[in-house]
Amino acid sequence: MGDRNYRQIITDVIERISHDTKPEIEKDNKIIHFSEVARCLRRSYFDRVEPVEQKGLRFSDLFRELIRKMPYGSIQGEFTLDNIKLKIFADMIVDDVVIIFRPVAKPPEKLIPSDALYLNACLWILKKTDGLVLYLAENGDEISFSLIRDNKMFEESIRRVKILNSLLEEKKIPVIEPSLECSTCQYYEKCYLKEKKPVSFSIESLLGFKEQEE
Ligand code: SF4
Repeated sequence: MGDRNYRQIITDVIERISHDTKPEIEKDNKIIHFSEVARCLRRSYFDRVEPVEQKGLRFSDLFRELIRKMPYGSIQGEFTLDNIKLKIFADMIVDDVVIIFRPVAKPPEKLIPSDALYLNACLWILKKTDGLVLYLAENGDEISFSLIRDNKMFEESIRRVKILNSLLEEKKIPVIEPSLECSTCQYYEKCYLKEKKPVSFSIESLLGFKEQEE
C-alpha cells in the first residue's frame, strides 16, 4: 500500500463532504427554519447560541442535504407569522403529493412525530393536502406513511415557532425534550450530566476528627 496515509485521505474526504453539505445555521432570530422546531427546541437553541460541532458524519444528515441540493426535487416554502419568517423545504412534489425522505437505521413502525410535524407544515405552507414520509432503511427496506393536512398539528407547530423565537430573543435556554434524538445529540452532556461540584471535606473529617474552630 506504499507510504500513503489512506486513513487521513478518507478523513479529509469525509470532512470535506460534511462541510459542503452542512445545513446553514440562521443567525437572524426573525428567520426560523421549520426543521429547527420539528426537532428538540433546546438543540436548535444551542446550535444558534453556543454551537458544538456534531462529531462524525451522519448518513441521514448527509442524505437530507444532498437531496435538498438536487436540481429536480426540493421545493422551498415560506410563511410569515407576525414578524417571523418561517422557511421550509419539501424534498419532492409528485402529483400534488408532498414527499419527504428520511434515511433511518431500521424502518419505524409508525410515523415519527417530528416527521409528522414537519410534513404537515410543508402541506400548509405549500398549500397541499396530501403528503408522504418515505423511510429508507440501511438494509434497503423502505416504508412510507401518508398524512392529510391537519389544522391542530399546524397550530402546535406555530406555537413552537413562537416559543423558539422568544427564547432566542430573551437568551433563555429551552427545557429538555427527551426523545430518541438525545442519543445522537452533541449537547447530551449539557442536558443529562450534572456539573460536578467540588466536595468540601477535610482530612480530619474523613478520619472522624472534630475540626478545629478558627
Ligand atoms: S440531549 Fe436531548 S434534550 Fe438535550 S438538546 Fe439534545 S436532543 Fe435536546
